[in-house]
Amino acid sequence: MHIEIPFIGQVETQEQTDWINAINSIAKKFRLVPLDAVPADQLPQVEIAVVASPQPEKLMSLPNLKWIQSLWAGVEDILSSGIDPDISIVRLKDPQMAESMAEAVLAWTLYLHRNMPLYKRQQTRKIWQQHSLSTPQTCNVTVFGLGKLGSRAALRLKQNNFTVRGWSNSEKSIDGIDTCYGTDGFESVLPVTDIAVLLLPLTENTTGLFNKSCLLKLPTGASMINFSRGPIVVETDLLDCLDSKNLDHAVLDVFNEEPLPAGNPLWSHPDITVLPHISAPTTLSSAAAITAENIDNYLNSKTIPASVDRSRGY
Ligand code: NAP
Repeated sequence: MHIEIPFIGQVETQEQTDWINAINSIAKKFRLVPLDAVPADQLPQVEIAVVASPQPEKLMSLPNLKWIQSLWAGVEDILSSGIDPDISIVRLKDPQMAESMAEAVLAWTLYLHRNMPLYKRQQTRKIWQQHSLSTPQTCNVTVFGLGKLGSRAALRLKQNNFTVRGWSNSEKSIDGIDTCYGTDGFESVLPVTDIAVLLLPLTENTTGLFNKSCLLKLPTGASMINFSRGPIVVETDLLDCLDSKNLDHAVLDVFNEEPLPAGNPLWSHPDITVLPHISAPTTLSSAAAITAENIDNYLNSKTIPASVDRSRGY
């Protein structure tokens, strides 16, 4: 007999159906169903839930919940939702997502390195002017956050011959990447960063990390790509640094408020490229396969997959 596992999320009904169908087509020992399809007398037995931006009160309605599988990579909303700290939070770690992110990081790094914002501006004014081309080796790219996504992105940049550095919380060794960590590493890497790629999780320590004092330590004319979470960058400080020409350009995929409100000045700033949170979307097929495997393994062995470290916040 199949065990019923609830899906809890704030997604469109069709998206919920797509997830349920995709996961059920692979699941061996369970069946994923909407939460409201689980009979009330069975709710106390539920140990696992599959979640996508879940409503905290719905998680709290499951008194025996042991772990949740998120379909997203970032889980800061769940961590701050006040759910029982004994519930393990398993976030999505999908190699396909790391590939998509690495590709996006390379694409937008090349966009900056090959002066595309400048040529676009020239085109709007019908200016035919060539600028000298520098090699990728002369461009110092630092990836802030060397986790599942950042480490893959750093290697992809290296394959494209950029000079790549990486910053993380703990010491790391990645072939061909000059790594550093902690506060000292942060201070030392900022002045040698032409393009800052942000792939950090949103935590107490990273909120507002890229404020004016940090941004002014980057070399004049440096650029930023933020593919992690909006609140890691102080938007008003970023705008000031672009206006004062301390920074050249920012490619932003994530914002304090999403969708970005129509009145937000980031939309119309000439030195900002706005993307609608698309650098590495979850891929239904691979995420469904990982989710089904994690749950089937648990049902076989009672082993909860590696989960978020609550003390670190990621
Ligand atoms: P991850 O595997 O948890 O890696 C996080 C990295 O950040 C680790 O290298 C960690 O250092 C480092 N870090 C965390 N706090 C730090 C601090 N205070 N100082 C220095 N380094 C710190 O996360 P991931 O899977 O790579 O994902 C990163 C983030 O990308 C997610 O949290 C999510 O917000 C974002 N994301 C965005 C999109 C999009 O489409 N825009 C898609 C997916 C994910 P250690 O290695 O030393 O622990």
